[in-house]
Amino acid sequence: MDSVLVSACLRGVPCRFDGRDKVSPGLAEAVTDRAVVSFCPEAAGGLPTPRRPAELVGGDGHDVLDGRARVVDDTGCDVTAEFVAGAERALAAARNGGCGEALLMPRSPSCGRGAVYDGSFGGVLVAGDGVTAALLERSGIRVRPAPGV
Ligand code: SF4
Repeated sequence: MDSVLVSACLRGVPCRFDGRDKVSPGLAEAVTDRAVVSFCPEAAGGLPTPRRPAELVGGDGHDVLDGRARVVDDTGCDVTAEFVAGAERALAAARNGGCGEALLMPRSPSCGRGAVYDGSFGGVLVAGDGVTAALLERSGIRVRPAPGV
């Protein structure tokens, strides 16, 4: 059976921008008996923890990968390069670990699947994927938002 890539914060790693984790109560059931590869793209991309919150500006993760949008933190600092580097390392980890699926943290500018914040830092969700979710999806890895968070 395939392994599954999981956002590290969902497994109790305190790697979120605020230095906390986001344990998913439904994760164990969703993973069943598969091997898990825990990964945090933002940390892997070279960003510190804690760090400023960031959002996608001008499009979603697919647009970032295609050079049409950026990732910017709430001070206006462009962190696009770190997000893309983290996504590429997440894809490498998924491939090395034999992961056919990823269960990722909803709404994150890296890990979000199907809905992300709109870049206003006003808590507004729009349809779209985070940068890592987008790269995994277009690379043939099925991406699902983790349940219960
Ligand atoms: Fe969690 Fe993904 Fe954000 Fe890392 S980048 S803290 S794994 S949501």
